[in-house]
Parts: sequence; structure tokens; C-alpha cells
Amino acid sequence: MAEVEISKNLPPPLSALAVGAHPDDIEFNVGGTFAKWSEDKTKLAHVICTDGSKGTWEKNANIAELISLRSEEAKRAARVLGTSEVMFLGETDGELEETKDGVRLIVKWIREFKPQIVLTHDPWKRYRLHPDHRKAGFLALNAVVGARDPLFFPELEMEPFRPEKIMLFEADEVDHVEEIGNWLDTKVKSLLEHQSQYKSTMDISDPKDQEQVLRFKNWVASLAQNDAQKYLGNKSSFVESFKIMDL
Ligand SMILES: [Zn+2]
Repeated sequence: MAEVEISKNLPPPLSALAVGAHPDDIEFNVGGTFAKWSEDKTKLAHVICTDGSKGTWEKNANIAELISLRSEEAKRAARVLGTSEVMFLGETDGELEETKDGVRLIVKWIREFKPQIVLTHDPWKRYRLHPDHRKAGFLALNAVVGARDPLFFPELEMEPFRPEKIMLFEADEVDHVEEIGNWLDTKVKSLLEHQSQYKSTMDISDPKDQEQVLRFKNWVASLAQNDAQKYLGNKSSFVESFKIMDL
């Protein structure tokens, strides 16, 4: 396979909208990039497709409480990154489908918010297990086409809007990285707002235990460092990685 040329560090856009499957996916995948851009006054929006209702290991969890807690956590985490808007599609966790209603709603948000860049899961990532990540990617990409082309969704009675780029995270073929070394702490801080996920995804049983919190921070840093090594050949940098599509 030919070597892919890796570009790095886009000029911060005027606006960007990320579509994630679950309440913490955006922070995990683009938290550093968004923290960096928001310092440059990029207007940011998060679209969260599912309600996060499978995000616990407690068999007897109160699901309504979990859903409301996760949406509050997502809003707090977004605020840490400097995001002004958080939209919820409200589909059931684990059961996301590419419905026309779902696409229409995201089309509406794209036409309203007018993001220069749309970021989402790479739906073509090979050997991906979680169906919600794949379907969130397809929903977002279908919505970009729907928002861009004037004859799509006339019932919305809105002007079409064409984003300039799509950035796919969890990309199958990475061709771009954003350096996030100075924004790693902000990324971790936003992730730590997802307290309901401490046990299941962050391996933190007691948030007052600084050692456990530090271990999580180091883990997030090591992922960003591994990608820098892999894509830039530079172990002293920290990056988030993407596949870019120009529209
Ligand atoms: Zn997820």
C-alpha cells in the first residue's frame, strides 16, 4: 500500500459541528481539537445520537435517571471545551438506525448552525464492533448531503448549506492529525465530567483517589502519543487523528 501523506493542523474554522453516537464520543475523539479551536473563537456544536442508556454495568440501574444524568454530563463536558450548542437526537443506546427522520433533524441542525467542518465517526472503519458508531457516521454523512443539496428535505423550508470539509474520527485510513499537546488537560477535564462512566470506561472507582484519576489522564495522553508516533514519527507530540473529505 502506498504511503499516505499526513497533513497536520488545519487553520481553526469559523464553526464546526461534531456528531457522536454516545454522550462521551465527541470528547474522546475530538476533545483536544475542539478545545484548541474554541480558543480561536471557533463556534462549536455537538450532536449526540443516542441517550446513553446502556452505559452502565449496574443491572438494576434506573434508566430514566441514567439518561438524564448522561445528558447533563454531556452538556457540562461540552461547556469545558467551549461548545455553545448541544443537540440530542434521543435514540435508544445500542439501537441507532439510519432513519429519514434522524437524517432530517441533523440536516436541520446543519442548515441552522452552518458548520464549516462536520466531524463524525468513520462508518467504513473495518472490523468495528459497535453498530451505533457506524450508524452515527452514516447518519451524519447522509445529513451533510441532505443539507448541501437544495432539493433534499423541502419540507424544512430552509436554504441549503454546504460544509467545506468532513473530518472522520476513528478513521480507517488516517490522513490528517491535529496536535493537541497544549489541550490535553482540557480534553481530560471534559471527559471527567462523564462521572457515570468512571467505572465502566475510565477504570476509576473512587474519583477522590488522585492516583486513579492520574492513571486515566496518562491513558488518554498515551493514546494521543501513540498516534503521534504512528502518523508523525514523533513520540514527543500528542495528536487526534482523522480522515479528511473535501466537499
Ligand atoms: Zn460510543
